Amino acid sequence: MPEKVVIIGSGPAGWAAAIYAARANLDPLVYEGAITAENQIKGTLPLGQLALTTEVENYPGFPYGNSREYLRSTLPPDRQPYWVQKNLPQPSHGINGPELMELMRQQAVNFQTRIITDDIVAVDFSQHPFVLRSLEEKTVETLSVIVATGARANYLGLPSEDYFKNNGVSACAVCDGALPRFRNKPLVVVGGGDTAVEEGTYLSKFAKEVYLVHRRDQLRASKIMQNRVLSNPKINLKWNRVLEEVIGNDQEGVTGALLRSTLDGKTEQVDCSGVFLAIGHTPNTDFLKGQVELTPEGYIKWTVPQRTYTSVEGVFAAGDVADNHYRQAVTAAGTGCMAALDAERWLAAGGWL
Ligand code: NAP
Repeated sequence: MPEKVVIIGSGPAGWAAAIYAARANLDPLVYEGAITAENQIKGTLPLGQLALTTEVENYPGFPYGNSREYLRSTLPPDRQPYWVQKNLPQPSHGINGPELMELMRQQAVNFQTRIITDDIVAVDFSQHPFVLRSLEEKTVETLSVIVATGARANYLGLPSEDYFKNNGVSACAVCDGALPRFRNKPLVVVGGGDTAVEEGTYLSKFAKEVYLVHRRDQLRASKIMQNRVLSNPKINLKWNRVLEEVIGNDQEGVTGALLRSTLDGKTEQVDCSGVFLAIGHTPNTDFLKGQVELTPEGYIKWTVPQRTYTSVEGVFAAGDVADNHYRQAVTAAGTGCMAALDAERWLAAGGWL
């Protein structure tokens, strides 16, 4: 018997889709992603990008407060945050990204969502039921699919950047920023969007100084977040500059960064122990190439306005994998809900329910 719906991905879009699909008696199966070294480096581990952030201040329903007791009563012991398990002080005022994702996952589990901790690495949408193949070489047949695999952080593609990955170069300040190698040292963050200012602000808690390197003279980040970096004495804005090269050696890792002015081409070197890239994202659609229509940037194309339909009937897309415009946790969850409703109605119209 094929599945009624398989959901690929475990960020807000995936869990919202699972909650709605489960409550519609579609008995959803979620592939939440595999726990592998490659996924760790790419930033594509289970629970998505929110699991790589700190405070989430803009997801409605989680105002300033203490979530400790709520987490203790809501999550099973093996999925409690470490600071709840160890009774450490609460690290934030409201809800943390990883906590929010655990709560969403648990809510899906509460409605009997089945979860497999593996990646889907290949799909065949040319036949129906569709066939999906996992990293562990298992196949699953399904009548409908909701793709919610999100997007991952970009790198510049410099050979020196690649060379020092995991030795001072990172695309996730929250994952790596508290490491001893970065403490009380100068650090570089590249980018001018919300991620860059968020990471710069976060790193400034540990670092001696943070150089925020941006290729223009204006930040793209939202005003409230811009104000945080502009008023932070530990953050030094390097306007109109790009990262030309990461400098370092095998023993110490990163020791500096060569910056180039976008105005006159002049270069300057800053000493630093870490370089954090925060220059946008790439959708996780490699496994879909040739199977469903993608945009030139690789995002899944939504084919009907206000619907989560794709170019393949029975395949729906939700969250950042299809949305390069809003890219918010709440919009991802919203489109996850839409995808489940679209899948349910499509299955019903086809006589499968
Ligand atoms: P983004 O908004 O696309 O910003 C990317 C930044 O990197 C831009 O400033 C861009 O410069 C720069 N950049 C891109 N390619 C570059 C290159 N090759 N060399 C140098 N600089 C380059 O991406 P994001 O900051 O990751 O944010 C993505 C979405 O998530 C946004 O919608 C954002 O609002 C949201 N987000 C929200 C929060 C929050 O609310 N707490 C936190 C993080 C992210 P230009 O400005 O010149 O294009």
